[in-house]
Amino acid sequence: MGKAEILSTIRETFFYGATDYTKNQPDLFVPHKFKMLAPSQVDDFMNNLNEGLTEKEILIYIHLPFCFSECSFCNSFPYRANHEVQKKYLASLLKELDIFTGYGVFKGKKAKGIYFGGGTPTSFSNGDLDRILTKISSVISLSSGCSITSEAHPLTLSDPERIVQMRDIGINRLSIGCQTFDKDLLKLCNRRNTKSQIAKIVNSAHDVGLSINIDMMTGLPGQSLGSVDRDLEILSKIKPDTVEYIRHEIVNPKVVKLYKENPHLMVDKDTLFEMVYRTQEWMTAHGYQQNGSFVDSRQWAYRYHWLHEMPIIAFGSRTRSYTKFTCYDKHEDISTYSSFLDKGILPIGRFISLSKKDQMYRSTLLRLQLKKGIDKKWFQEKFSLNPSDVFGSLFSKLTDLGCLEEENGAIRLTKHGAYFVEDVCDCIIDTALKEESESLVRSPHSEGTTSSMFD
Ligand code: SF4
Repeated sequence: MGKAEILSTIRETFFYGATDYTKNQPDLFVPHKFKMLAPSQVDDFMNNLNEGLTEKEILIYIHLPFCFSECSFCNSFPYRANHEVQKKYLASLLKELDIFTGYGVFKGKKAKGIYFGGGTPTSFSNGDLDRILTKISSVISLSSGCSITSEAHPLTLSDPERIVQMRDIGINRLSIGCQTFDKDLLKLCNRRNTKSQIAKIVNSAHDVGLSINIDMMTGLPGQSLGSVDRDLEILSKIKPDTVEYIRHEIVNPKVVKLYKENPHLMVDKDTLFEMVYRTQEWMTAHGYQQNGSFVDSRQWAYRYHWLHEMPIIAFGSRTRSYTKFTCYDKHEDISTYSSFLDKGILPIGRFISLSKKDQMYRSTLLRLQLKKGIDKKWFQEKFSLNPSDVFGSLFSKLTDLGCLEEENGAIRLTKHGAYFVEDVCDCIIDTALKEESESLVRSPHSEGTTSSMFD
């Protein structure tokens, strides 16, 4: 198939658009398999987890779910920033790290990457972030070159001295949400960040040797192709180290209301397709790697290792951890989270024991987001099965669409398959769900909490 035919096939028959799209990358999410975990079962659960965790290196995620205001594109549903509440939450988080350590899970392991996400982690002071990092370093060794990222709201980084201090406490990568530079769109999204603010932050980060990522979005309410082009022009001048472009996932009640009242603001499917295509062409031309095109760990080590299935152990309320055999979630509500910890119990609320088929789906979903794709020999050794035998019809479908190819013993995304990696991930999840029951439908990762904590 030629380029035009591939693109038209993807657009006409495969592209999930805005309304059918769920942000399902990077990881497999099959929520119907969750089982509740009673507090009395936590000890056994942790002992099993420990036994199955044979990897020497792990990733640590720290969730800091507080923000100063709520953006209408948000799918994280943070709490409103509040000094006293955050103080209590921080104490609970440090206690969680201690209790977890008591189960011996960190013994003999190293942290390859640490990621502060949220929310706005920088709604906490640098001193607070330092306390968390100091605690982590006291319970687990850090691998050499451990990548330590903090997400940050641009408004919290206006003082360059804050960035210097973040570097001094060990953070070596910043990730700021920007989504667009278009003032009118930002207003609709309840957000303020200017081009000059972002440029200043990128320069300040570079001045002190920090790597910096900018998160961007397509499909924002009222967004046009012209606006996307202007964003790309600005990014070309600002030159962050990495850019992640994702599609707006319509889950926040604020944006749902906005679209109900102003349906014309929703970007139509063909325009959204062109936005995704253009932004991905730009990413490739500028050497930026993201899901679907990761070649190495230089740009985003944490995600790169995640896609190689390095276990993720997450701390904080409403976090999801993944190991080879298990996926488990903490309690969502911060008071419930803290009350468990006050009683000395890990606040694990539910878990999935991944079946062999789930594990194969997960490996496939994750590895296809790497440029090199799935090494068939590696898959065969791991599961004693040929991936083409297990996923024959899924692979044929994606190949017929021009999204997948097989070469030199590897199954991987084509250039255009990588551009539309979000659709590939949704397709894999749909296939996994339909295999179990026709009635199962995709859920957003924010499944559980999909209402604002600000109201
Ligand atoms: S998108 Fe907005 S509301 Fe959501 S976590 Fe980021 S800064 Fe907070």
